[in-house]
Amino acid sequence: MRGRVLIRAGAAAACLLILVVAACRPARERAPVPAPPHILLISLDACRADRLSCYGYERPTSPFLDTLASRGTRFALAFANTQGTVPSHTTLLTSLPQETHRMFHFRTEEEKRWQKVPDGAVMLQELLRARGYRTLAVTDGGHMARVFGYDRGFDDYRDGATGVESGTRKLLGLIRALPRDGTPVFAFLHTYEIHSPYDPPEPERSLFGPSEGRIGADSGTLLALNEAGLAGLSPQDLEFLRGRYDGGIRFTDRVLEGFFRELEAEGFLPHAVVAVTADHGEEFGEHGGLLHRGMLYEESIRVPLILLGPGVAAGRVEGRLVSLMDVAPTLLALAGVPAAPGMRGRDLLARGADAGEEAVFTQYGPLRYGIRTRDWKLIRNATPPSLELYDLRRDPGERMNMAEVRPAQARELARKLERWRAAQPALAQQGAAAPDEEQIRRLKGLGYLGGDRDSAQ
Ligand SMILES: [Zn+2]
Repeated sequence: MRGRVLIRAGAAAACLLILVVAACRPARERAPVPAPPHILLISLDACRADRLSCYGYERPTSPFLDTLASRGTRFALAFANTQGTVPSHTTLLTSLPQETHRMFHFRTEEEKRWQKVPDGAVMLQELLRARGYRTLAVTDGGHMARVFGYDRGFDDYRDGATGVESGTRKLLGLIRALPRDGTPVFAFLHTYEIHSPYDPPEPERSLFGPSEGRIGADSGTLLALNEAGLAGLSPQDLEFLRGRYDGGIRFTDRVLEGFFRELEAEGFLPHAVVAVTADHGEEFGEHGGLLHRGMLYEESIRVPLILLGPGVAAGRVEGRLVSLMDVAPTLLALAGVPAAPGMRGRDLLARGADAGEEAVFTQYGPLRYGIRTRDWKLIRNATPPSLELYDLRRDPGERMNMAEVRPAQARELARKLERWRAAQPALAQQGAAAPDEEQIRRLKGLGYLGGDRDSAQ
Protein backbone atom coordinates (compact mmCIF):
# COMPACT_ATOMS: atom_id res chain seq x y z
CA MET A 1 0.00 0.00 0.00
CA ARG A 2 2.81 2.36 0.87
CA GLY A 3 4.28 2.03 -2.63
CA ARG A 4 0.91 2.59 -4.27
CA VAL A 5 0.29 5.86 -2.46
CA LEU A 6 3.71 7.19 -3.42
CA ILE A 7 3.33 6.35 -7.07
CA ARG A 8 -0.05 7.99 -7.27
CA ALA A 9 1.41 11.09 -5.65
CA GLY A 10 3.26 11.77 -8.89
CA ALA A 11 6.56 11.33 -10.64
CA ALA A 12 8.66 13.06 -7.98
CA ALA A 13 7.38 10.74 -5.30
CA ALA A 14 7.95 7.73 -7.53
CA CYS A 15 11.57 8.74 -8.01
CA LEU A 16 11.89 9.18 -4.26
CA LEU A 17 10.77 5.61 -3.76
CA ILE A 18 13.19 4.27 -6.30
CA LEU A 19 16.00 6.30 -4.75
CA VAL A 20 15.65 4.22 -1.63
CA VAL A 21 17.29 1.33 -3.44
CA ALA A 22 19.09 2.76 -6.46
CA ALA A 23 19.60 5.76 -8.61
CA CYS A 24 16.37 7.30 -9.86
CA ARG A 25 15.82 6.25 -13.44
CA PRO A 26 12.76 7.20 -15.42
CA ALA A 27 10.56 4.23 -16.27
CA ARG A 28 9.99 3.89 -19.99
CA GLU A 29 6.30 3.70 -19.38
CA ARG A 30 4.70 3.79 -15.99
CA ALA A 31 3.01 0.46 -15.38
CA PRO A 32 -0.31 0.44 -13.54
CA VAL A 33 0.05 -0.52 -9.92
CA PRO A 34 -1.07 -4.10 -9.41
CA ALA A 35 -3.20 -5.11 -6.51
CA PRO A 36 -2.27 -7.63 -5.17
CA PRO A 37 1.51 -7.22 -5.55
CA HIS A 38 3.82 -8.84 -8.04
CA ILE A 39 5.82 -11.71 -6.55
CA LEU A 40 9.40 -12.57 -7.48
CA LEU A 41 10.74 -15.85 -6.07
CA ILE A 42 14.45 -16.51 -6.57
CA SER A 43 16.08 -19.88 -5.86
CA LEU A 44 19.88 -19.84 -5.73
CA ASP A 45 20.58 -23.55 -6.11
CA ALA A 46 23.12 -24.89 -3.60
CA CYS A 47 23.68 -21.54 -1.85
CA ARG A 48 24.39 -22.18 1.82
CA ALA A 49 23.30 -19.45 4.20
CA ASP A 50 26.57 -19.03 6.05
CA ARG A 51 28.41 -18.04 2.88
CA LEU A 52 26.44 -14.79 2.56
CA SER A 53 27.85 -11.72 4.28
CA CYS A 54 24.47 -10.87 5.80
CA TYR A 55 24.51 -14.30 7.46
CA GLY A 56 27.82 -13.56 9.11
CA TYR A 57 30.37 -14.70 6.54
CA GLU A 58 33.67 -12.87 6.83
CA ARG A 59 34.05 -12.48 3.04
CA PRO A 60 32.06 -9.80 1.20
CA THR A 61 30.25 -12.29 -1.05
CA SER A 62 26.83 -10.66 -1.13
CA PRO A 63 26.79 -6.85 -0.96
CA PHE A 64 23.60 -6.59 -2.98
CA LEU A 65 21.74 -9.40 -1.22
CA ASP A 66 22.80 -7.72 2.02
CA THR A 67 21.02 -4.53 0.94
CA LEU A 68 17.92 -6.57 0.09
CA ALA A 69 18.09 -8.12 3.56
CA SER A 70 18.42 -4.69 5.16
CA ARG A 71 15.35 -3.48 3.24
CA GLY A 72 13.30 -6.51 4.25
CA THR A 73 13.20 -9.36 6.72
CA ARG A 74 16.02 -11.87 6.92
CA PHE A 75 15.29 -15.25 8.48
CA ALA A 76 18.48 -16.16 10.32
CA LEU A 77 17.52 -19.80 10.90
CA ALA A 78 15.89 -21.07 7.71
CA PHE A 79 16.18 -24.71 6.67
CA ALA A 80 15.52 -26.94 3.72
CA ASN A 81 13.12 -29.73 4.62
CA THR A 82 14.82 -32.17 2.32
CA GLN A 83 17.96 -32.61 0.27
CA GLY A 84 18.23 -32.42 -3.47
CA THR A 85 17.04 -30.06 -6.14
CA VAL A 86 13.97 -32.05 -7.18
CA PRO A 87 12.46 -32.80 -3.77
CA SER A 88 13.40 -29.47 -2.26
CA HIS A 89 11.91 -27.36 -5.04
CA THR A 90 8.80 -29.51 -4.87
CA THR A 91 8.57 -28.65 -1.17
CA LEU A 92 9.23 -24.96 -1.91
CA LEU A 93 6.40 -24.78 -4.45
CA THR A 94 3.90 -27.11 -2.71
CA SER A 95 4.55 -26.52 1.01
CA LEU A 96 4.52 -30.29 1.46
CA PRO A 97 7.25 -32.38 3.10
CA GLN A 98 9.02 -34.97 1.00
CA GLU A 99 7.30 -37.62 3.11
CA THR A 100 4.05 -36.47 1.45
CA HIS A 101 5.01 -35.54 -2.12
CA ARG A 102 7.51 -38.43 -2.35
CA MET A 103 9.53 -36.73 -5.05
CA PHE A 104 12.96 -38.28 -5.00
CA HIS A 105 15.86 -38.50 -7.36
CA PHE A 106 16.52 -41.20 -9.77
CA ARG A 107 19.38 -42.89 -8.02
CA THR A 108 21.23 -44.18 -11.05
CA GLU A 109 20.73 -43.91 -14.75
CA GLU A 110 19.88 -47.61 -14.88
CA GLU A 111 17.01 -47.38 -12.44
CA LYS A 112 15.29 -44.74 -14.58
CA ARG A 113 13.24 -43.58 -11.63
CA TRP A 114 12.30 -40.22 -13.03
CA GLN A 115 9.39 -38.73 -11.17
CA LYS A 116 6.92 -35.95 -11.83
CA VAL A 117 5.34 -33.71 -9.24
CA PRO A 118 2.23 -35.69 -8.21
CA ASP A 119 -1.12 -34.35 -9.40
CA GLY A 120 -2.32 -34.19 -5.80
CA ALA A 121 0.36 -31.65 -4.90
CA VAL A 122 -1.04 -28.17 -5.50
CA MET A 123 1.67 -25.70 -6.45
CA LEU A 124 2.03 -22.05 -5.52
CA GLN A 125 1.82 -20.90 -9.13
CA GLU A 126 -1.45 -22.78 -9.71
CA LEU A 127 -3.12 -21.00 -6.81
CA LEU A 128 -1.83 -17.61 -7.93
CA ARG A 129 -2.88 -18.14 -11.53
CA ALA A 130 -6.36 -19.17 -10.41
CA ARG A 131 -6.60 -15.78 -8.67
CA GLY A 132 -5.61 -13.78 -11.71
CA TYR A 133 -1.82 -13.77 -11.62
CA ARG A 134 0.29 -14.12 -14.73
CA THR A 135 2.84 -16.81 -13.94
CA LEU A 136 6.34 -16.91 -15.43
CA ALA A 137 9.33 -19.13 -14.70
CA VAL A 138 12.90 -19.22 -15.96
CA THR A 139 15.13 -22.05 -14.77
CA ASP A 140 18.54 -23.41 -15.61
CA GLY A 141 16.98 -26.73 -16.64
CA GLY A 142 18.68 -29.82 -15.22
CA HIS A 143 16.51 -30.98 -12.38
CA MET A 144 14.35 -27.91 -12.91
CA ALA A 145 13.42 -28.89 -16.46
CA ARG A 146 9.74 -28.86 -17.25
CA VAL A 147 9.82 -32.61 -17.76
CA PHE A 148 9.69 -33.10 -13.98
CA GLY A 149 6.35 -31.36 -13.82
CA TYR A 150 7.16 -27.92 -12.39
CA ASP A 151 5.61 -26.19 -15.38
CA ARG A 152 2.09 -27.00 -14.19
CA GLY A 153 0.41 -23.69 -13.40
CA PHE A 154 2.90 -21.49 -15.24
CA ASP A 155 1.70 -19.50 -18.25
CA ASP A 156 5.27 -19.53 -19.51
CA TYR A 157 7.96 -21.90 -18.24
CA ARG A 158 11.40 -21.51 -19.79
CA ASP A 159 13.94 -24.10 -18.71
CA GLY A 160 16.74 -23.25 -21.11
CA ALA A 161 18.72 -20.65 -19.16
CA THR A 162 22.43 -21.30 -18.72
CA GLY A 163 23.31 -19.37 -15.61
CA VAL A 164 22.21 -16.29 -13.76
CA GLU A 165 23.05 -13.81 -16.55
CA SER A 166 21.07 -15.73 -19.12
CA GLY A 167 18.24 -16.48 -16.69
CA THR A 168 17.75 -12.91 -15.53
CA ARG A 169 17.92 -11.66 -19.13
CA LYS A 170 15.23 -14.12 -20.21
CA LEU A 171 12.99 -13.33 -17.26
CA LEU A 172 13.37 -9.60 -17.81
CA GLY A 173 12.39 -10.12 -21.45
CA LEU A 174 9.26 -12.04 -20.44
CA ILE A 175 8.28 -9.36 -17.93
CA ARG A 176 8.86 -6.56 -20.45
CA ALA A 177 6.71 -8.33 -23.03
CA LEU A 178 3.68 -8.45 -20.74
CA PRO A 179 0.79 -6.09 -21.36
CA ARG A 180 0.88 -3.18 -18.93
CA ASP A 181 -2.61 -3.65 -17.64
CA GLY A 182 -2.03 -3.88 -13.90
CA THR A 183 -2.33 -7.68 -13.77
CA PRO A 184 -0.12 -9.03 -10.96
CA VAL A 185 2.78 -11.24 -11.99
CA PHE A 186 4.38 -14.20 -10.25
CA ALA A 187 7.92 -14.67 -11.55
CA PHE A 188 10.10 -17.60 -10.49
CA LEU A 189 13.83 -17.63 -11.19
CA HIS A 190 16.04 -20.66 -10.55
CA THR A 191 19.76 -20.64 -11.22
CA TYR A 192 22.55 -23.20 -10.97
CA GLU A 193 25.15 -20.42 -11.11
CA ILE A 194 26.46 -21.12 -7.59
CA HIS A 195 26.13 -24.92 -7.97
CA SER A 196 29.10 -26.95 -9.26
CA PRO A 197 31.00 -26.61 -11.49
CA TYR A 198 32.33 -23.63 -9.56
CA ASP A 199 33.13 -21.58 -12.59
CA PRO A 200 32.45 -17.86 -12.18
CA PRO A 201 33.98 -15.38 -14.63
CA GLU A 202 36.51 -12.73 -13.66
CA PRO A 203 36.78 -10.62 -11.64
CA GLU A 204 34.86 -12.81 -9.17
CA ARG A 205 36.76 -15.93 -10.26
CA SER A 206 39.92 -14.77 -8.51
CA LEU A 207 38.35 -12.45 -5.94
CA PHE A 208 38.61 -14.86 -3.02
CA GLY A 209 41.53 -17.03 -4.08
CA PRO A 210 43.61 -18.16 -7.05
CA SER A 211 41.70 -18.29 -10.32
CA GLU A 212 43.13 -21.76 -11.04
CA GLY A 213 44.04 -24.57 -8.68
CA ARG A 214 45.90 -27.84 -8.60
CA ILE A 215 42.56 -29.62 -9.05
CA GLY A 216 39.55 -28.76 -11.17
CA ALA A 217 36.35 -27.29 -9.73
CA ASP A 218 34.14 -29.30 -12.09
CA SER A 219 31.49 -31.71 -10.82
CA GLY A 220 33.33 -34.81 -12.07
CA THR A 221 36.46 -33.96 -10.08
CA LEU A 222 34.44 -33.29 -6.95
CA LEU A 223 32.44 -36.52 -7.33
CA ALA A 224 35.69 -38.48 -7.72
CA LEU A 225 37.04 -36.87 -4.56
CA ASN A 226 33.88 -37.90 -2.70
CA GLU A 227 34.27 -41.47 -3.90
CA ALA A 228 37.86 -41.43 -2.65
CA GLY A 229 36.78 -40.17 0.77
CA LEU A 230 38.50 -36.85 -0.05
CA ALA A 231 41.86 -38.63 -0.19
CA GLY A 232 44.42 -36.32 -1.74
CA LEU A 233 42.41 -33.18 -1.12
CA SER A 234 44.82 -30.73 0.48
CA PRO A 235 43.81 -27.72 2.60
CA GLN A 236 44.97 -25.55 -0.32
CA ASP A 237 42.68 -27.45 -2.70
CA LEU A 238 39.77 -26.98 -0.35
CA GLU A 239 40.54 -23.29 -0.06
CA PHE A 240 40.65 -23.03 -3.84
CA LEU A 241 37.21 -24.67 -4.12
CA ARG A 242 35.83 -22.38 -1.43
CA GLY A 243 37.19 -19.36 -3.25
CA ARG A 244 35.56 -20.38 -6.51
CA TYR A 245 32.24 -21.14 -4.81
CA ASP A 246 32.31 -17.82 -2.98
CA GLY A 247 33.18 -16.10 -6.27
CA GLY A 248 30.07 -17.69 -7.80
CA ILE A 249 27.96 -16.14 -5.06
CA ARG A 250 29.55 -12.74 -5.59
CA PHE A 251 29.05 -12.97 -9.35
CA THR A 252 25.40 -13.95 -8.86
CA ASP A 253 25.03 -11.05 -6.45
CA ARG A 254 26.40 -8.62 -9.05
CA VAL A 255 24.11 -9.92 -11.78
CA LEU A 256 21.08 -9.75 -9.50
CA GLU A 257 21.91 -6.14 -8.69
CA GLY A 258 21.72 -5.26 -12.38
CA PHE A 259 18.55 -7.31 -12.79
CA PHE A 260 16.86 -5.49 -9.93
CA ARG A 261 17.94 -2.14 -11.38
CA GLU A 262 16.17 -3.07 -14.61
CA LEU A 263 13.08 -4.24 -12.73
CA GLU A 264 12.99 -0.89 -10.95
CA ALA A 265 13.20 0.96 -14.25
CA GLU A 266 10.31 -1.17 -15.49
CA GLY A 267 8.20 -0.05 -12.57
CA PHE A 268 7.90 -3.71 -11.50
CA LEU A 269 9.90 -3.76 -8.32
CA PRO A 270 8.27 -1.16 -6.10
CA HIS A 271 5.09 -3.25 -6.21
CA ALA A 272 6.74 -6.63 -5.86
CA VAL A 273 7.20 -8.96 -2.95
CA VAL A 274 10.62 -10.56 -3.34
CA ALA A 275 11.77 -13.83 -1.77
CA VAL A 276 15.35 -15.05 -2.12
CA THR A 277 16.25 -18.52 -0.93
CA ALA A 278 18.02 -21.77 -1.85
CA ASP A 279 17.01 -25.41 -2.14
CA HIS A 280 19.90 -26.75 -0.04
CA GLY A 281 23.44 -25.94 0.99
CA GLU A 282 26.81 -27.36 -0.02
CA GLU A 283 29.56 -29.29 1.73
CA PHE A 284 33.20 -28.33 1.91
CA GLY A 285 34.66 -31.25 3.78
CA GLU A 286 32.95 -30.54 7.12
CA HIS A 287 31.69 -34.10 7.33
CA GLY A 288 33.92 -35.89 4.89
CA GLY A 289 32.44 -34.86 1.57
CA LEU A 290 31.88 -32.19 -1.04
CA LEU A 291 28.83 -31.05 -3.01
CA HIS A 292 25.45 -32.13 -1.59
CA ARG A 293 25.17 -35.79 -0.72
CA GLY A 294 21.86 -36.01 1.08
CA MET A 295 23.35 -35.13 4.45
CA LEU A 296 21.33 -33.29 7.10
CA TYR A 297 24.15 -31.36 8.76
CA GLU A 298 23.91 -27.59 8.97
CA GLU A 299 26.06 -26.89 5.90
CA SER A 300 23.61 -28.95 3.84
CA ILE A 301 20.25 -27.83 5.22
CA ARG A 302 20.68 -24.22 6.34
CA VAL A 303 19.63 -21.86 3.56
CA PRO A 304 19.16 -18.12 3.17
CA LEU A 305 15.65 -16.71 3.29
CA ILE A 306 15.15 -13.01 2.62
CA LEU A 307 11.73 -11.42 2.12
CA LEU A 308 10.99 -7.84 1.19
CA GLY A 309 8.32 -5.71 -0.38
CA PRO A 310 4.82 -4.49 0.45
CA GLY A 311 3.66 -6.03 3.71
CA VAL A 312 7.12 -7.17 4.85
CA ALA A 313 8.90 -5.44 7.76
CA ALA A 314 12.12 -3.68 6.74
CA GLY A 315 15.41 -4.02 8.58
CA ARG A 316 14.26 -7.00 10.57
CA VAL A 317 16.11 -10.19 11.44
CA GLU A 318 13.90 -13.10 12.49
CA GLY A 319 15.42 -15.69 14.76
CA ARG A 320 12.65 -18.27 14.64
CA LEU A 321 13.21 -21.68 13.11
CA VAL A 322 11.56 -21.61 9.69
CA SER A 323 11.72 -23.81 6.63
CA LEU A 324 11.14 -23.81 2.90
CA MET A 325 7.67 -25.25 3.56
CA ASP A 326 6.75 -21.83 4.95
CA VAL A 327 7.61 -19.88 1.80
CA ALA A 328 4.52 -20.63 -0.32
CA PRO A 329 1.96 -19.94 2.48
CA THR A 330 3.75 -16.67 3.27
CA LEU A 331 3.77 -15.49 -0.36
CA LEU A 332 0.13 -16.53 -0.77
CA ALA A 333 -0.85 -14.56 2.33
CA LEU A 334 0.94 -11.48 0.99
CA ALA A 335 -1.04 -11.91 -2.23
CA GLY A 336 -4.30 -12.35 -0.33
CA VAL A 337 -4.73 -15.84 -1.75
CA PRO A 338 -5.75 -18.72 0.56
CA ALA A 339 -3.26 -21.56 0.85
CA ALA A 340 -4.29 -25.02 -0.38
CA PRO A 341 -5.87 -27.12 2.38
CA GLY A 342 -3.02 -29.62 2.52
CA MET A 343 -0.16 -27.13 2.68
CA ARG A 344 1.87 -27.74 5.81
CA GLY A 345 3.89 -24.55 6.17
CA ARG A 346 2.97 -21.34 7.98
CA ASP A 347 2.51 -17.75 6.98
CA LEU A 348 5.69 -16.39 8.52
CA LEU A 349 4.34 -12.86 8.72
CA ALA A 350 1.09 -13.77 10.48
CA ARG A 351 0.68 -12.24 13.89
CA GLY A 352 0.58 -14.67 16.75
CA ALA A 353 2.06 -17.50 14.69
CA ASP A 354 4.53 -19.90 16.23
CA ALA A 355 2.85 -20.48 19.53
CA GLY A 356 3.91 -24.12 19.36
CA GLU A 357 7.24 -25.76 19.94
CA GLU A 358 9.93 -24.95 17.46
CA ALA A 359 11.28 -27.82 15.43
CA VAL A 360 12.13 -28.36 11.80
CA PHE A 361 11.86 -31.83 10.31
CA THR A 362 14.22 -32.76 7.55
CA GLN A 363 14.78 -35.87 5.50
CA TYR A 364 16.61 -37.39 2.61
CA GLY A 365 13.92 -39.64 1.19
CA PRO A 366 13.52 -42.72 3.35
CA LEU A 367 17.28 -42.93 3.94
CA ARG A 368 17.77 -40.27 6.55
CA TYR A 369 15.49 -38.24 8.82
CA GLY A 370 16.31 -35.35 11.09
CA ILE A 371 14.69 -33.13 13.68
CA ARG A 372 16.32 -29.83 14.49
CA THR A 373 15.26 -27.80 17.49
CA ARG A 374 16.90 -24.58 18.56
CA ASP A 375 19.53 -26.40 20.58
CA TRP A 376 19.59 -30.00 19.40
CA LYS A 377 19.64 -32.06 16.25
CA LEU A 378 18.86 -35.73 15.94
CA ILE A 379 19.59 -37.59 12.70
CA ARG A 380 18.29 -41.10 12.14
CA ASN A 381 20.08 -43.00 9.40
CA ALA A 382 18.46 -46.01 7.75
CA THR A 383 21.53 -47.82 6.42
CA PRO A 384 23.15 -48.85 8.60
CA PRO A 385 20.61 -47.94 11.28
CA SER A 386 22.12 -45.33 13.56
CA LEU A 387 21.31 -42.22 15.56
CA GLU A 388 23.33 -39.03 15.71
CA LEU A 389 22.61 -36.43 18.37
CA TYR A 390 24.28 -33.03 18.42
CA ASP A 391 24.23 -30.32 21.03
CA LEU A 392 24.16 -27.31 18.71
CA ARG A 393 24.89 -24.84 21.50
CA ARG A 394 28.19 -26.43 22.45
CA ASP A 395 28.95 -28.15 19.18
CA PRO A 396 27.63 -26.08 16.27
CA GLY A 397 29.92 -27.97 13.88
CA GLU A 398 28.16 -31.28 14.76
CA ARG A 399 31.38 -33.09 15.58
CA MET A 400 30.48 -35.03 18.72
CA ASN A 401 27.69 -37.56 18.48
CA MET A 402 25.98 -37.45 21.88
CA ALA A 403 23.42 -40.20 21.20
CA GLU A 404 24.99 -42.59 23.69
CA VAL A 405 25.96 -39.90 26.18
CA ARG A 406 22.46 -38.40 26.30
CA PRO A 407 20.18 -41.39 25.55
CA ALA A 408 17.08 -39.79 27.10
CA GLN A 409 17.45 -36.72 24.90
CA ALA A 410 17.98 -38.93 21.85
CA ARG A 411 14.93 -41.05 22.68
CA GLU A 412 12.69 -38.02 23.17
CA LEU A 413 13.69 -36.47 19.85
CA ALA A 414 13.45 -39.84 18.09
CA ARG A 415 9.90 -40.23 19.41
CA LYS A 416 8.95 -36.78 18.12
CA LEU A 417 10.52 -37.54 14.78
CA GLU A 418 8.65 -40.81 14.49
CA ARG A 419 5.36 -39.20 15.47
CA TRP A 420 5.88 -36.55 12.81
CA ARG A 421 6.81 -39.11 10.17
CA ALA A 422 3.83 -41.33 10.93
CA ALA A 423 1.46 -38.36 10.68
CA GLN A 424 2.43 -37.38 7.14
CA PRO A 425 0.10 -38.57 4.40
CA ALA A 426 1.64 -39.87 1.17
CA LEU A 427 0.40 -38.74 -2.22
CA ALA A 428 -0.06 -41.17 -5.08
CA GLN A 429 2.62 -41.01 -7.73
CA GLN A 430 1.62 -40.43 -11.31
CA GLY A 431 3.51 -41.12 -14.43
CA ALA A 432 7.20 -40.92 -14.99
CA ALA A 433 9.21 -38.06 -16.35
CA ALA A 434 11.13 -38.78 -19.52
CA PRO A 435 14.08 -36.42 -19.94
CA ASP A 436 15.67 -36.36 -23.37
CA GLU A 437 19.34 -36.85 -24.20
CA GLU A 438 20.12 -33.14 -23.97
CA GLN A 439 18.60 -32.96 -20.50
CA ILE A 440 20.57 -36.03 -19.42
CA ARG A 441 23.77 -34.44 -20.77
CA ARG A 442 23.01 -31.30 -18.78
CA LEU A 443 22.43 -33.32 -15.62
CA LYS A 444 25.75 -35.09 -16.06
CA GLY A 445 27.49 -31.74 -16.40
CA LEU A 446 26.02 -30.72 -13.07
CA GLY A 447 27.45 -33.82 -11.43
CA TYR A 448 24.39 -36.05 -11.50
CA LEU A 449 24.12 -39.54 -12.96
CA GLY A 450 27.80 -39.93 -12.15
CA GLY A 451 27.36 -43.48 -10.95
CA ASP A 452 27.90 -42.60 -7.31
CA ARG A 453 24.59 -43.21 -5.64
CA ASP A 454 24.92 -40.61 -2.94
CA SER A 455 27.27 -38.08 -4.38
CA ALA A 456 25.36 -35.14 -5.68
CA GLN A 457 21.62 -35.00 -5.39
ZN1 LIG B 1 19.81 -28.04 -5.88
